[in-house]
Amino acid sequence: MPSVETVQGPVEDSELGLTLVHEHVRFRDEAVAAEWPARYDDQLEFDAALVAVNAAKQRGVRSIVDPTAMFGGRDVGFMKRVADATGVRIIACTGIYSYDYLPHYFENRDIDVMADHFVEDIEVGVQGTDIKAAFLKCAADAPGVTEHVEKIHRAVARASLQTGASIMAHSMPAVATGPRQVEIFEEEGVDPAKIQIAHCGDTDEIDYIEGLLARGVYVGLDRYGLEMYLPMDRRNATAAELLRRGHAERLMISQDFCATIDWFPPEAEEMFETSGAIRNWSMTLVFDEVVPALREMGAMDDASYDTIFVENPRRWLTA
Ligand SMILES: [Zn+2]
Repeated sequence: MPSVETVQGPVEDSELGLTLVHEHVRFRDEAVAAEWPARYDDQLEFDAALVAVNAAKQRGVRSIVDPTAMFGGRDVGFMKRVADATGVRIIACTGIYSYDYLPHYFENRDIDVMADHFVEDIEVGVQGTDIKAAFLKCAADAPGVTEHVEKIHRAVARASLQTGASIMAHSMPAVATGPRQVEIFEEEGVDPAKIQIAHCGDTDEIDYIEGLLARGVYVGLDRYGLEMYLPMDRRNATAAELLRRGHAERLMISQDFCATIDWFPPEAEEMFETSGAIRNWSMTLVFDEVVPALREMGAMDDASYDTIFVENPRRWLTA
């Protein structure tokens, strides 16, 4: 049986169970957190992570894939504390979350050197621990697939080829980054079954999403609750249509929830709720509202529920 690395060590893939494939137990601008640690309340962040993860656990979630990479304040020690306290497995990644910026350190070293850093996280351990990364993360957003973004994608692809680890790529449908991201992975020789293009659910252009699915990759409908990118009813209509067209085996449904995130001052969250930019964003929204709606629409049954929340994460992680 294939095994999957979690922050508590490897588990048999059959043990993963019900899985949320894209959530963050904490998200920080890591340079700010490193320079001004007193601005952060570790206990408050930890408590918020426990509330979110325990709520998911109550809905039956056994495992959470947390794609927090470099620049997102990745901290596998924090993840392990959350996993230990909740009994929910957390699966960590390696990679760089950047829309363009690259530190001089990596700018002046070649792709293979960058890949080697990722391989070390996967084969040896992350941040001086023996906790191993289970998959690779990269990103493309509004600036598109810039030279730096392409470099990170190629390094991620090469680390995948060396280790067998799968890839999750943050994408931005509004500027159609997905096809180029897949193309780079293909050029490097990565099997599409190892590739997940996240955030495809931010558009309801079915043709765009089916264009990616035709390449054999997984697509993430993974930002439920972030109404600012697309409201839930349109996300659901898209998910339902993709399910009707037989794509259940390549869809990932999640929330991209951050138990805490430092991108905005504390008062902003209420403002986002009031303005409708976010609505009921949490680690349980897909179980509380999305699955019931898709069932009501006749688009989801027990089998496709199992495919999406159990089989797809397992199959992608072990491809
Ligand atoms: Zn995310």
